[in-house]
Amino acid sequence: MSELIRNYEDVKNNIEDSVNKSSVSNKDVTLIAVSKTKPNEMIEELYEYGVRDFGENYVQELCSKYEELPKDIRWHMIGHLQTNKIKYIIDKVYMIHSVDSLHLAEAISKEAKKRNITVKCLLEVNVGMEETKFGLTAENLEENYIEISKLEGIEILGLMTSAPYVENPEENRQYFVQLRSLMVDLKDKGLYNKNKFFLSMGMTCDYTVAVEEGADFVRVGTAIFGARNYI
Ligand SMILES: *Cc1c(COP(=O)(O)O)cnc(C)c1O
Repeated sequence: MSELIRNYEDVKNNIEDSVNKSSVSNKDVTLIAVSKTKPNEMIEELYEYGVRDFGENYVQELCSKYEELPKDIRWHMIGHLQTNKIKYIIDKVYMIHSVDSLHLAEAISKEAKKRNITVKCLLEVNVGMEETKFGLTAENLEENYIEISKLEGIEILGLMTSAPYVENPEENRQYFVQLRSLMVDLKDKGLYNKNKFFLSMGMTCDYTVAVEEGADFVRVGTAIFGARNYI
């Protein structure tokens, strides 16, 4: 077994341990392998092993990987998206996790209507309130959610967050609890009327705790692919 596959299996096993440890965890967690900056060969190796869910942050990189790799890969757009780039990825992604403003949602809706498609989206909430991060806030989520729900061509399926980088994942538990309760609030108020909502939370530094707090999607890069070299 290669190091890459071993890493992937380790993360899978840790997720399973967290599921077994927790009473609120979802039993069916999707592990998204975050492949940004990583070469096609590594993605292909995981693909051969059966992995289908990959996460990317950059439009150009996502587009070239989409062209070069098998068409049944589910590409998750997890990075900040500029409105003028939507047209390049809208028909290539399985889900957009990073809808971080009403303005972006309106632009996605416009592009989706043109193509007569519906795009699965999550609303990104900056629960850690880091200045460097994009996202709605806990305070303005509800009003944005109401406006975005009215748009055609967008299906909101839940919430996403990126918690701060930490050494000890326990430090981020509060944020995962908060994201879950924001979603429950929307549901309790009758604003969210689907049976199931999805929470996208947890990265290399904190995915075990995110799973314990009910994550449906975890987005793990470094623990699978190794450290990234940015050029
Ligand atoms: C890069 C990235 C990840 C993966 O981060 P790792 O720490 O490498 O696991 C997850 N989510 C988002 C939004 C990212 O940008």
